[in-house]
Amino acid sequence: SRRARERGLAYYDPSVDSYSADRLTMVSELQQALANNELRLYLQPKLDCRTERVSGLEALIRWPGRSIPVGADKIIRLAEQTGLIKPLTRWVLRQSVLIRERLCAEGHTVQLSVNISPNNLREPDFPAFVGQLMSDNPRHKGAIIFEITETSMMQDPANALTAVNSLASAGIPVSIDDFGSGYSSLSYIKQLPASEIKIDRSLITDIATREEDRVIVQTTINMCHSLGYRVVAEGVEDTATAKLLISMGCDMIQGYLLSPPLPIEEALVWLDDRQEP
Ligand code: C2E
Ligand code: CA
Ligand code: CA
Ligand code: CA
Repeated sequence: SRRARERGLAYYDPSVDSYSADRLTMVSELQQALANNELRLYLQPKLDCRTERVSGLEALIRWPGRSIPVGADKIIRLAEQTGLIKPLTRWVLRQSVLIRERLCAEGHTVQLSVNISPNNLREPDFPAFVGQLMSDNPRHKGAIIFEITETSMMQDPANALTAVNSLASAGIPVSIDDFGSGYSSLSYIKQLPASEIKIDRSLITDIATREEDRVIVQTTINMCHSLGYRVVAEGVEDTATAKLLISMGCDMIQGYLLSPPLPIEEALVWLDDRQEP
């Protein structure tokens, strides 16, 4: 840890963070923002490499209207540490149904991906909540995908497996997020009824310049394909990287090259512009 500090890496110290007054203020502000419906979901498109069409959008949380911006990672971390993640994720899920309703009404019947926290997988009534939401909104069944990080599933693999299985039987496709950033065992991943693997941005960033990274990504794509998964590359920022991924057989790409996450109104305009022949 001393060596890491010397190299300029800061370590997160929960014992300091949890007693800071700033943090307490922010938690109660977050709670209010949630209650007052001030949080937003921004949408980032995913491109199908074969058809070159948008095949889906990912919903990412934003907290606009704050003097000091708070990033999604921090919002989620605060929510997870305080139990707020339960109502927050339920808000995200209800909101995602409304968003997909709107997308379909405007002629964009694409998939919508939402991020789920490992804490949600530990809520005993989570599958029931999701099952109810889907049976109330049957047209979105199968079209709302849950992204769950590889690392979060490894915190409690047995429980994650049970939870993901009951989500799958409620008609929820599952995507393994940030794949390659943790140390999961393939024999575990193989047991999950997931349909999609998202290769972590850290593996994608340097493929245009680093041979080793290219080999790792190509091997990952081949392996995932042999196991029957669709493969998404995240964090694609330039054309060279996109072209490489297409030549490597990657199924979908996502990243700033295509578009940053956009508020829904802007996303709808973006989709309309793109769809013009
Ligand atoms: P993630 O799910 O891995 O999402 C990808 C992150 O990379 C997003 O950051 C996105 O804005 C960013 N990104 C997209 N394309 C590029 C690119 O080309 N280059 C770079 N450098 N970054 C790119 P964001 O929106 O700040 O979200 C951070 C993380 O917070 C997410 O990582 C996810 O783990 C979590 N998160 C966001 N929204 C939610 C939510 O509604 N619920 C939960 N549980 N977690 C969420
Ligand atoms: Ca994600
Ligand atoms: Ca990711
Ligand atoms: Ca991530």
